Amino acid sequence: MANYAEMWKDLGMDLEAHDALCAVLPTAFGDVYLSQENRPEGMGFWDMVVADIHGIRPAELIEAQKKGQKVFGTFCVYVPDEVVIAADGIVTGLCGGSQFWVPGGEKVLPKSTCPLIKASVGARLERTCPFFRIADMYVGETTCDGKKKAWEILGQDVPMHIMDMPQMKRPQDVKKWEDEIKAFAHVVEEFTGNQITPEKLGDAIHIINEKRKALARLYEARKAKNIPISGRDALLVMQIAFFDDPVRCAQMTNKLADELEQRIADGVSVFPAGTKRILLSGTPMAIPNWKLHQIIETSGAAVVCEENCTGTRYFENLVDETKNTLEEQYAAIAQRYMGVNCACFTPNTGRVDDILRLAKEYDVDGVIDVNLKFCCLYDTEGYTVEKALKDAGIPVLGLETDYTDADAEQLRTRIQAFVEMLG
Ligand code: SF4
Ligand code: SF4
Repeated sequence: MANYAEMWKDLGMDLEAHDALCAVLPTAFGDVYLSQENRPEGMGFWDMVVADIHGIRPAELIEAQKKGQKVFGTFCVYVPDEVVIAADGIVTGLCGGSQFWVPGGEKVLPKSTCPLIKASVGARLERTCPFFRIADMYVGETTCDGKKKAWEILGQDVPMHIMDMPQMKRPQDVKKWEDEIKAFAHVVEEFTGNQITPEKLGDAIHIINEKRKALARLYEARKAKNIPISGRDALLVMQIAFFDDPVRCAQMTNKLADELEQRIADGVSVFPAGTKRILLSGTPMAIPNWKLHQIIETSGAAVVCEENCTGTRYFENLVDETKNTLEEQYAAIAQRYMGVNCACFTPNTGRVDDILRLAKEYDVDGVIDVNLKFCCLYDTEGYTVEKALKDAGIPVLGLETDYTDADAEQLRTRIQAFVEMLG
């Protein structure tokens, strides 16, 4: 790791606590990632990014800020990056995926809050993540109750804009979301001092669509019989996509996809023939939450797809690029984002349809439906998801977990039994 101590100090970070975090990450990464065999060469880029995860990209963001650009921190795949980019702003994801940050969150939030929210709040308040220090403005959303209340606490510490999400997807709700996007655009324009024009918004839509297409190519490769990349590696690409420059993300992902397509043509796989194929559905897996992928892929199975926000929900469906006026473009953006199926909506039958479709497309042997502890939305929807899968004759295992390792052995036992049951 290069020495970024001065930068972290200038960001007002707690250097001692941060050192403790930096000390555990390389071991965890080594155990989960570097221990794998026959990884695609293209993963070298993501290994490099992770090795300096609190250095390289934060330094780039600070440079951009010096040139007058504003950085917006987001927590949900419904917040449209296009609007920020059209105003020459930068987006960085802020969801926390480490147990390291959870106790900090528990100082101000009920213990019975999902670990993702606790980790995100802890990372900010304990001053141990540069991304949380760099963002000039946070953008929250009214998706789940835990987040809504967390914004009130975070908002005391940092400028915050909250997007009011509809709870249903009727035509009037999509229209409401369109209005909310326009209101967000107005805030972004004011904050950056840059006006959004149809040309700039058109360019931004194209940039994000290209990133989505590249990520879709990566996933397409995972449909192959000889699986050219592990689920762990694909998850890492997705997790970093929330932080990286979108043009570079598309470029590097396309390069990786080239290699994967060549591997498919050459019959190269990272798993032995006959390895059971698993679709993971459920709650998001923010970096560095690699826990379930690691357990599954060291228990004789392969994760070939993630139906979650660090998976297909992030890149499926494009924004229509044929619109030329701001009015039409905002409507097109609203349409695309309302196509994302999160459990915060009711009814949410689209998500069950997605899972059944993905199970078929990725030719999976079974589905593991995962819930982050205390996420009432996905937990409740798990009933409907599991019933639909059973009705379709697709084996399913429902799991609940958090960021600790306390349940790792118990999870391993259940997952091994599930994989064995798949035959
Ligand atoms: S699970 Fe729902 S609330 Fe969470 S990031 Fe995804 S869309 Fe947003
Ligand atoms: S996992 Fe559930 S409780 Fe946690 S932030 Fe997402 S929707 Fe909210």
